Amino acid sequence: MSKRSRPSLVLAWCFETRFRKKRLFFMRPELKAFTSIMLTRSALLPLLLAFSVSTCKKHENIAASPQPPNPTPKAFGVATASPSTNAAANSPAPKTTKPVVDQTAQAIVFGYHRFVNNVRHPDTEITPAAFEAQMAELKNRGITVIGMQDFLAWKRGEKNIPPRCAIITIDDGWKSQYEVAWPILKKYGYPFTMFIYTEGVRGGHFGGGEAITWEQLAEMRDAGIDIEAHSATHQDLRKPYDKVARKRLSPPEYEQWLQNEIVGCKQLLEQRLGIKVNCFAVPYGFYNEHIKEVARNAGYEAIFTVYGQPLTYNAPLNSLGRYMIEANKPKVFADAVKMIGTSTGGAAAVAEVATTNLATQPADGETVRTALPLIRANLSAMGPVDPGSVQLRVSGLGLVPASFDAKTQIVSYQVTQKLREKTCTVILSAKSSGKKIETHWTFGIEETAAATSTSPTPTPTPKK
Ligand SMILES: [Zn+2]
Repeated sequence: MSKRSRPSLVLAWCFETRFRKKRLFFMRPELKAFTSIMLTRSALLPLLLAFSVSTCKKHENIAASPQPPNPTPKAFGVATASPSTNAAANSPAPKTTKPVVDQTAQAIVFGYHRFVNNVRHPDTEITPAAFEAQMAELKNRGITVIGMQDFLAWKRGEKNIPPRCAIITIDDGWKSQYEVAWPILKKYGYPFTMFIYTEGVRGGHFGGGEAITWEQLAEMRDAGIDIEAHSATHQDLRKPYDKVARKRLSPPEYEQWLQNEIVGCKQLLEQRLGIKVNCFAVPYGFYNEHIKEVARNAGYEAIFTVYGQPLTYNAPLNSLGRYMIEANKPKVFADAVKMIGTSTGGAAAVAEVATTNLATQPADGETVRTALPLIRANLSAMGPVDPGSVQLRVSGLGLVPASFDAKTQIVSYQVTQKLREKTCTVILSAKSSGKKIETHWTFGIEETAAATSTSPTPTPTPKK
């Protein structure tokens, strides 16, 4: 079954979006009230704008300059006090770390699916022109597009955001998102989030010719695009019936299936891309308390649904509504040139280097006894490496602040936040003579160390 033929999924989506339309209709008066509140607040706006003008600039630059999509490791240290960071926490803490955030700010989240010139499923498709017009309108209306991780940092009280923000999210993982939406978003300098269901990536159960590839996702990751989870097989997670296996599930089977849909999907994305995944978009917006609980236990920070609404500072993180955009556009767009036809194909080529040449530590396939390992590799085999280009990604953590010694060609990173999974993938990339070189390896963590160890085994002090 390819991505081109998913009638059941499309039908379910149609049903769900129609249901949502009714809600939107009912919400209109509420929105009007919201607008008038915003107007009465306009006296405060100059003050707020002055306060957040520097953040605006930064947000606008996010997509332009390569930047880690996820919170910096510094933020991890703040968020989770592992035994190794407690020592630092106990010493006189530097004050003024938390900015005063504007709690009156609001954000709206948009959800898109496919970008095609020939709209056949208006519930999930939009023309690039219509999409670009919407992006332009956000700009013209002075709504700042911010990244997902900035939004979550604001919700944690760590960072300010402009008074009126929008977050762009794109669901399911279609190649048109890479080929069509990304260039448009790049043009506007907008950051965005991709919600991926892993069996929908090329090569997966639903990953047919229209699906995005892992290579394309990796290129987007490198450009600073936020990549998050949207289940494994994109089904109604409330129902104990697996449409892929065509099987009714017993209660224990259902729990196992749910684990794979919610937790397995996160792990796969983290391992394949060396990122930290902290958001989950529920397929079709169908969820219940149990689903939210499983997601919370899996370490998700935010759960997204499809019921759009302005998100306030206190909006519950376990059911954040998104406005799913539909394109009931006139036929004028149907005759336009198919975007697929102008596609460029795969991502930029990346040379692979065998990890055995890099004397990695831990070695590929090795199992270590600590959840706080020291990660090292010798890059001599990569040729003359541009020191500023060395990037180390660790599954479950994302981009980490590794140190690189240009003299010894050794890159190293001491893990400071316990690795949660039984296996860990490291993705190392660097530029040599202008060419990007990448390598990745996976090591195991002894279960007791990953799950229960309370004190780290003695490890060399991190250089940084
Ligand atoms: Zn979806």
